[in-house]
Amino acid sequence: MHTTLLFPGLFQAAACTTIPPTQPHAVSRLRAERLARSSKPFLARGGPKGERCPGCRLVPSHCLCAVRPVIPTRAGVCLLMADIEPLKPSNTGWLIADVVLDTFAFGWARTEVAPDLLALLADPQWQPLVVFPGEFAEADRVVTQTPVPAPVSPAVAKRPLFVLLDATWPEARKMFRKSPYLNHLPVLSLAPEQVSRYVLRRSKRGDHFCTAEVASLCLGLAGESHASLTLDAYLDVFTHHYLQAKHQLPPQWEGEAHHRLQVLMGAV
Ligand SMILES: [Zn+2]
Repeated sequence: MHTTLLFPGLFQAAACTTIPPTQPHAVSRLRAERLARSSKPFLARGGPKGERCPGCRLVPSHCLCAVRPVIPTRAGVCLLMADIEPLKPSNTGWLIADVVLDTFAFGWARTEVAPDLLALLADPQWQPLVVFPGEFAEADRVVTQTPVPAPVSPAVAKRPLFVLLDATWPEARKMFRKSPYLNHLPVLSLAPEQVSRYVLRRSKRGDHFCTAEVASLCLGLAGESHASLTLDAYLDVFTHHYLQAKHQLPPQWEGEAHHRLQVLMGAV
């Protein structure tokens, strides 16, 4: 159940950025598939009856579906997710799929690859770029910029497709080494100064450089600054709601993260 209708008018002023989700996005579908294959129930604490909103995975009192921004972008994102990632309520690949319309998601396995993934990587409309530290790839594969189309020919230029390995760091290294279908693709290595901008924020979140932050950086590199900033603000809103729920405190709808997101969405 989405709660969009429970907050009528909250984002009425937004231009085209609040499209109510009509169907589950790629990560939501992957989660459902993964749950269906699971031999034992995945236990994640929910509300009083254990319930979580299927739209945002938060307990109903902290649901943020009403403020979900959807941004049409030229760039796309392809998430290769380690087995357990789609099941984690804190997975931030989900937030990318919320915001970026053209988000694709596939479960990763060492011994098999989805035909749909191979078809996507071979689709001539996309220029796939594997986002990974350049020090782990052959030097001739490494790029530090995304192709930005010339103003005169945007229609014929390929759209960047950021391939993100959504996993813990040891898993991601294994995925990078053992996915031969990625070996011919350029590796987009984020520059140290871009990363360091976020290192300052790591302590705030208390965990590693997360997948949504990487996607935000990539969108910025592709010239999609509005989508980049919006994803970043939405991540902060999600983090706030997630932590408030964890500590059994109410979300602050007037707080800094919400305000920043509303400004970006043109609602204030
Ligand atoms: Zn929700």
